[in-house]
Order: sequence, then structure tokens, then C-alpha cells
Amino acid sequence: TNTPTLTLTSGTTIPQLGFGVFLVDPDDTQRVVEDALAVGYRHIDTATGYNNETQVGAALRASGIPREELFITTKLRNDHHKARDVEGAFARSLDMLGLDYLDLYLIHWPMPANDLYVETWRTFETFAADGRAKSIGVSNFLIPHLERLLAETDVVPAVNQVELHPIFQQRELRAFQAQHGIATEAWGPLGQGKYPLFDLAPVQAAAASHGVSPAQVVLRWHLQTGNIVIPKSNSRERMAENFDVFGFELSAEEFAAIDALDENRRVGGNPSEIN
Ligand code: NAD
Repeated sequence: TNTPTLTLTSGTTIPQLGFGVFLVDPDDTQRVVEDALAVGYRHIDTATGYNNETQVGAALRASGIPREELFITTKLRNDHHKARDVEGAFARSLDMLGLDYLDLYLIHWPMPANDLYVETWRTFETFAADGRAKSIGVSNFLIPHLERLLAETDVVPAVNQVELHPIFQQRELRAFQAQHGIATEAWGPLGQGKYPLFDLAPVQAAAASHGVSPAQVVLRWHLQTGNIVIPKSNSRERMAENFDVFGFELSAEEFAAIDALDENRRVGGNPSEIN
């Protein structure tokens, strides 16, 4: 069940492959997360906005897996950015998850029109300082938003979790983040099922040559790119398939062919427009 880890600027390590629970119905979440843990995932990505933190917490407890073997991420909801709301939202997340610390706490979206994310981040810094969040980071931040945090606050975000897949590869953002030690975490790593990624010729060709599925090829591309990746599935078979990506490697040619698929095209929301 050991997956490769990356070391974050905070000094803690994160399993490079995790499991996301966006759009997992609260009624299914405990079963889904218990399956994911049984398959071998130790890194779970949720959010207050997913309305399933309580059920994630129930699965963690039911698993009996020691806390230190787990890596748990959740995210602050968009309507709790004001400094006076952040502490309460964070405490409620810990409570719902049944945890006394988080491995990673993220600002879910920058909501730039509100102009509050610098204030929000200063409160996040207190969670890092008192150890209730081993690492703090952001999600859906564009370069100008990161530049403001770097200029106006003390702690460099450990990660930025953003839409990223072969059709939207985020080259400029990744280069910027690499320069500043900010790890890149890919959401929608399989294109959220909104783009027929699995039908593309280079994906199909690599799948055929390695005897694996197109989803495994796409996940392998993420891992070889250096991304942290958190695919989601309700099906235990697919969870296991998505976790079984350490027995083969894309060749330089196969990797380059997938790299060339970039259309710089989102399938999800644009962070500058979400408010
Ligand atoms: P994803 O790219 O992981 O795609 C999930 C879809 O792919 C599912 O509907 C599933 O049916 C399908 N799928 C999964 N494995 C498959 C396989 N092996 N073969 C064929 N189909 C397969 O999309 P996602 O769930 O949106 O993203 C992953 C995680 O990222 C989320 O669960 C969530 O934790 C996180 N996320 C974060 C944000 C954010 O704003 N920070 C936004 C979206 C998602």
C-alpha cells in the first residue's frame, strides 16, 4: 500500500496518489472511503463544500488505520473567507472529521472579487503555527493570487490544487510553482468524465502497449509529470485500477505524445469568474 511521497515546503510528506470524494453522495461516502482505504489509499481529499466530512471521518475510524499513516485534506468553503469565520469553519471541519489535526487545509477558491484571500491566509498561518494543520495550501489560485500571498504573507502555500489533465496542463502555473516550491496537485485528473480523454490516440496506444487501461495511462502521465493526483470513483474495481499504476512506466515517446495533447482548455470553472 506504499505510494511514492513528495516532500512539501512545510517539511511533511504527502502520498503522491490520493483519493478524492467530490460528488460522492453523503449516504455512500462511508462505504466508498472504506473501500478506498481497503484498496490501499492513505490520502483522502474532501472539502466542507462536499458535505461529506462526517462520513469521511466515520470511514477513517472504522478502518482502524493509525492516524499517522493517513493524509487528510479538507477545504474552507467560499462563504467563510472572513477572518472571523475561518477559525469556526476550521474547528467544525476537524470536529466533523473526528480529527485533532489536518494534514492539509486548503482555501477552496480565491474568490478574487471579494478580495479576502490574503486575510483568510493570515488565519490559515495560525493553524500551521499551532500544529492543527501540518500543511496549509490553496486551490484554484491563479499566478496573480499566488504572487499576492508571496508578497504580503509569511508562509508559502505548500500546494495549489488546480484543474489539471492532458487537455489542460497548466504549464505556466506549474513552472511558477516549481520556482517557489509550491507543489502542484491535480483535480479532475481524468477530465471529470467531461472530455473523452480515454479515446485519444496516444492514450489508447500507450494503454495497448502496456496492457493497462486508458485511465491508468493518464494517471501515470500525472505521476511522471510530478503532480499529486487524487482521482475519484465510487466503484471499488476502478479505485483498485487507479491505484495500480506503479507497475509500468510511460516511455519518453509515449509521455511526449500525451504532453502534446495540451489544448490549454478547462473543463471546469474559471477561478477568476467564480464568486
Ligand atoms: P476525476 O477526473 O477524478 O474524474 C472522476 C470521474 O472519472 C468519475 O465520474 C468516474 O466515473 C470516472 N472514472 C474514475 N476512474 C475511472 C476509470 N478507471 N475508468 C473510467 N472512468 C473512471 O474528477 P473529480 O472527481 O472531479 O476530481 C478528483 C478529485 O479532485 C475530486 O474528487 C475532489 O476531491 C477534487 N476536486 C477538487 C476541486 C477543487 O476545486 N479544489 C474541484 C474538483 C475536484
